[in-house]
Amino acid sequence: MGWRVGLGWDLHRLEAGRPLVLGGVAIPHDRGAVGHSDGDALLHAIVDALLGAAGLGDIGELFDDRDPAHRGRPSGEFVAAVRARLAASGLRVAGVDTVIVLERPRLGPHKAAIRARLAELLGLEPDRVGVKAKTHEGVDALGTGDAVAAHAVVLLEDAAPPGAETCAG
Ligand code: MG
Repeated sequence: MGWRVGLGWDLHRLEAGRPLVLGGVAIPHDRGAVGHSDGDALLHAIVDALLGAAGLGDIGELFDDRDPAHRGRPSGEFVAAVRARLAASGLRVAGVDTVIVLERPRLGPHKAAIRARLAELLGLEPDRVGVKAKTHEGVDALGTGDAVAAHAVVLLEDAAPPGAETCAG
């Protein structure tokens, strides 16, 4: 069995009058992420981790942020597209762990929904998905609430070849 690890990180500025979406879940707030797509920093970090683990480049190479087709696009569609590429490469997602850095609002009430949505988007059982939320202790742009950031680590495994399950002991 082959294993591959991938690391992703993303940051978006926050401005009034925009939606805040994290892990495909809308978070009620008075400001949201500036971005060409829906600005979902968590999903963008996950996409980069998936691509990195598979040696498939990065999110900017696959989804050009100058392409009008991606304007306002739900980032869950990027995840779906990358999963299809992984499958074509004989890989599947085995687990993901994430950290969101957001000063406010506190994400405690939203973590379960984000975890459930990530599990759905990645085709994983929820116990293979980690969602942690941190503040930035008032320091720098993250700490003043002017930005949101996210970190992600993913583990990919080689998809079992057809018929391999019949060999299981
Ligand atoms: Mg991004």
